Amino acid sequence: MRRRELLKYLSILPAGGLITSYVHANPLLSTEKQPVSRELFKELGVRTFINAAGTYTAMTGSLMRPEVLDAINYSAADFCMLDELQDKVGEKIAGLVRAESAVVTAGCFSAMTLGLAGILTGLDEEKATQLPHLAGTNMKSEVICQKGHDIVYTHALKNTGCKIVMIETSEELEKAISERTAMLFFLNVQADRGQISHEEWVAIGKKHQIPTMIDIAADVPPVSNLWKFHDMGFDLVCVSGGKAMRGPQSAGLLMGRKAFVQAARLHMPPRGFNIGRGMKVNKEEILGMYVALEKFINLDHEREWETQQRQVDIMAMAAKSIDGVSTEVKVPELGNVTPTLHITWNPDKVKISGKELQQRLRDGSPSIEVGGSEETSVTVTAWMLKPGQEKVVAKRLREELSAAV
Ligand SMILES: *Cc1c(COP(=O)(O)O)cnc(C)c1O
Repeated sequence: MRRRELLKYLSILPAGGLITSYVHANPLLSTEKQPVSRELFKELGVRTFINAAGTYTAMTGSLMRPEVLDAINYSAADFCMLDELQDKVGEKIAGLVRAESAVVTAGCFSAMTLGLAGILTGLDEEKATQLPHLAGTNMKSEVICQKGHDIVYTHALKNTGCKIVMIETSEELEKAISERTAMLFFLNVQADRGQISHEEWVAIGKKHQIPTMIDIAADVPPVSNLWKFHDMGFDLVCVSGGKAMRGPQSAGLLMGRKAFVQAARLHMPPRGFNIGRGMKVNKEEILGMYVALEKFINLDHEREWETQQRQVDIMAMAAKSIDGVSTEVKVPELGNVTPTLHITWNPDKVKISGKELQQRLRDGSPSIEVGGSEETSVTVTAWMLKPGQEKVVAKRLREELSAAV
């Protein structure tokens, strides 16, 4: 855009209009007149809110960092071959997480499905066309999982046609292993609800030459979890890209043994004879995920932690300034590892339920989402807040709690 045109364009902007879009390097796009970003949420009447709850899929997960948005905008302007991009990005990602190989998937759930699909079929295209109908094929058909590790997401494994066999002890595990066993599945977030440890799980897998997979979807931070489980010997590691890593909400990573990741890709677009065809990731998501991962690994994690603690303290101070309200900061040991503020009150003094408080904050202006509402408590986190929003949440907590006294 020439200077004169730019001035003309600026003069037609509404007073105080938002100039949030950036003029793209691509000449095809930059000549189009689209400088004012539309306020689409407003147009559609969709509520936006301050997220003091956490990384929830229903709340659209997390906000991508500017570097990620840059990667998305940049890659939207050119074509490339999907497989070539996955090859090159996969190599870089594998290097970053110390895995043999990696591929960007459509979330952790799809990483689980595709990883298991690859284990079942190897590089056999004929077999790939048969999934999820395993009966009558010579493919394996069972995945073993500890009872305490069975949550809704094991459905990702069942999508391949496999059945989940539940066990509790290592003796039961040894007994359950048969020629039908395709894989041993471990869920990190509930590691403490099973009797068998990570190390023992891997050792039993190796002893019987059965691949092991771990789901660490919501288990970064700590950042070291991105490489810890490869080092420990798990064959496949699955993680969400759109939770704490703040990649595209629809992206995730399948990382691990080269042969399995290669086989998993037989089940992914652009190929269409498989169960994974509906799990497409586009070039923008692939590059967005790559940049998000790189950015996340290079963060000053100590400083991030201190910032979150400080923000949580500000919200805690405001809440506990009300008579009858107490606060405690807890850090979950597994999953969603962030300082989590538990706000609890004496119902004789503060006459509101957790659900009601949650609703009032939601209905207020600005709208705020908090988590974990119980009869006399809610939880609050800082990791999905934009800088300064902790003060808004603190003020609203004080207002609503004191109004209930
Ligand atoms: C979020 C989550 C998943 C699903 O991950 P997506 O990236 O949303 O596909 C799987 N397992 C666990 C434990 C999770 O928390």
